[in-house]
Amino acid sequence: MIVIRGATTIPSDTKEEIQKAVSELLEQIESRNSLKRDEIVSLVFSSTSDIHSYYPAKAARDAGFMSCSLFSAQEPEIDGGLPLCIRCMIFVEKNLAPSHVYLRGAKVLRKDIAGKMNIAIDGPAGSGKSTVAKRVAKDYNILYLDTGAMYRACALKVLEAGIDPNDETAIVDLMRDVKLDVVYENGIQKTLLDGKDVSEEIRKNPVSMASSVVSKHPSVRMHLVEKQREIAGRMSCILDGRDIGTYVLPDADFKFYLTASPDVRARRRYDELKAKGTEVDYEQLKGEIIRRDEQDMNRKFAPLKQAEDAVLIDTSDMTIDEVVSAIEHVMQEKL
Ligand code: C5P
Repeated sequence: MIVIRGATTIPSDTKEEIQKAVSELLEQIESRNSLKRDEIVSLVFSSTSDIHSYYPAKAARDAGFMSCSLFSAQEPEIDGGLPLCIRCMIFVEKNLAPSHVYLRGAKVLRKDIAGKMNIAIDGPAGSGKSTVAKRVAKDYNILYLDTGAMYRACALKVLEAGIDPNDETAIVDLMRDVKLDVVYENGIQKTLLDGKDVSEEIRKNPVSMASSVVSKHPSVRMHLVEKQREIAGRMSCILDGRDIGTYVLPDADFKFYLTASPDVRARRRYDELKAKGTEVDYEQLKGEIIRRDEQDMNRKFAPLKQAEDAVLIDTSDMTIDEVVSAIEHVMQEKL
């Protein structure tokens, strides 16, 4: 007896989507393993606890799997588990080297089998990119790379060295000897500058403004983009920034452009800083966000703009949950 594994995801919890996904999964398992129906002894399904509309085993029956024994079970709710996922095990009476099949969003469960995917999220400051990207990364069990943190770390170094952020030549010299690293602790990105954890320091307001100036220099960008491409080339990840879909990863599997009105964005940053105990003036913050947008959108090299093939999401009147669902819905439809 041989066991073949398979998994897939559905874009929404409906009977039709479950039938479609199960039939596609079984068809793929049959064809990739050259199986005949009478070689299948039993099909065992499990589905995540957010699926209620239909039994996957019944969907298999609907798809014509009549002679084997069928069984479905529900998985426990696991924090960080892949949403809307159906898994199966197929027991077959045949001697073969099994070809396991992972489709749609479930590809990320077995990157070794299904290959890697990159997701690009771009947009202006405060559009919700990082919060949303962290959530999607957790749901899909992939890495989140905050590229803004790299420009911020570079800006911090420039400020500490007392260099004018406009002085590209001096910055290039400075960056030559700087060690900038991105590491992960319990899945959380930490930015290290010359070995020191600067993750908190780079969030301060003067650093935000300087990062937008420093990031206009092509030599700075090229240096950091190389690191970003190297990471994205090695593993499945979601990157957020300003130029991911247009310049860093023009062939990303998914591209999203998040935006929101300046008022909403300023309010989000204000609440965020306030929660950390930082005193800020709302009007000043709004002015800075608008200035940063202008700088980021109008620089010559890799400016902030929506990639032609990016999905635009205006998050002004949306909750984080709604934005995450919109993104995951788009992904699961395509996967
Ligand atoms: O996203 P965050 O606000 O942390 O980014 C800080 C600054 O870094 C941005 O205002 C922008 O100027 C720059 N940046 C960039 N390209 C990226 C990410 C950030 O130019 N991919």
